[in-house]
Amino acid sequence: MKDIIIVGGGTAGLTAAIYARRAGKSVLVIEADNCGGQIINTPEIENYPGIKNISGLEFANGLKDQAESLGAVIESAKVTGLDIKDGKVKTLHTTSGDRECMAVILATGAKNRHLGLENEEEFTGCGVSYCATCDGAFFKDGVVAVNGGGNTAIEDAFFLSNYCSKVYLIHRRDAFRADAKEVAKLKAKENVEFILNSTITALCGNGDLEYVELENTLDHRKSKLEIEGLFIAIGQTPDNKAFADFVTLDEKGYIAAGEDCKTATKGIFAAGDCRTKSVRQLTTAAADGAVAALAAIAYCG
Ligand SMILES: Cc1cc2nc3c(=O)[nH]c(=O)nc-3n(C[C@H](O)[C@H](O)[C@H](O)COP(=O)(O)OP(=O)(O)OC[C@H]3O[C@@H](n4cnc5c(N)ncnc54)[C@H](O)[C@@H]3O)c2cc1C
Repeated sequence: MKDIIIVGGGTAGLTAAIYARRAGKSVLVIEADNCGGQIINTPEIENYPGIKNISGLEFANGLKDQAESLGAVIESAKVTGLDIKDGKVKTLHTTSGDRECMAVILATGAKNRHLGLENEEEFTGCGVSYCATCDGAFFKDGVVAVNGGGNTAIEDAFFLSNYCSKVYLIHRRDAFRADAKEVAKLKAKENVEFILNSTITALCGNGDLEYVELENTLDHRKSKLEIEGLFIAIGQTPDNKAFADFVTLDEKGYIAAGEDCKTATKGIFAAGDCRTKSVRQLTTAAADGAVAALAAIAYCG
């Protein structure tokens, strides 16, 4: 029986662990995938106050080391559900069995959105990727495409243009959500070509991805684009359905919680990208981790 269980070992979850341990609470962090969360996928962070420049992996490892050195226990498992018995005790169902605690901090972040094409899963790892930083090196000197129009897509295309002979940027509109300065920087790269007003309608190949079919959104003309790799960067979506009996989810699936990180149920808090908010960044995730931990500490008494 722990005082506090934190679901998710990203920036929010690990920051919460640091605060809770420093207050003397017993803490278990349960992480389904890679400890560190989303940020491990970025080669460079330049906007975290006090750190001029650091890789995502180094940043995440630093947080993990700090939490563990303070005595937080990190377990590898996925939390699949939650129950509350006797008023205060919370039982978390995980892929490694049940775990009990007084307070829960949900810090589940968000996951990459998929295109929803029929054979997308089949080609994942065989040409289709959601992480340029993780998989870009596999396509050294190759021809790849990035799909998306936000900052991540632009950042990914830029990163890949340093490895690959050719990078196509496929976007369904001709305007970008990404920063204009970053788009201009990408346009200046000689091996980058923009394919605008176009959507991907099919992924094709025999085993590995060989080409994608595109449809022009203006004249509906179809075309074929031969590529070895496709990096899908069309945004993110949260996954909080397992907790829906105890927290309110908004229309997109984010946990309804204000700046105090309190949810619809006493003793259950939400921190970081998984909660309703307008800015999803490391600073806001870390801030939430601190706020949620202090609230959970007060709840435990
Ligand atoms: C490519 C990229 C670059 C970025 N660059 C920057 C940047 O330069 N600066 C910046 O400020 N922000 C950046 N961000 C945003 C930043 O990474 C996020 O805002 C931040 O990581 C959110 O932290 P989090 O802890 O809320 O969620 P996450 O980092 O998403 O962590 C959530 C964790 O919870 C785990 N989890 C989820 N569900 C369960 C479950 N049921 N059971 C157990 N574990 C679970 C996940 O596996 C994950 O590890 C970037 C994001 C991306 C994708």
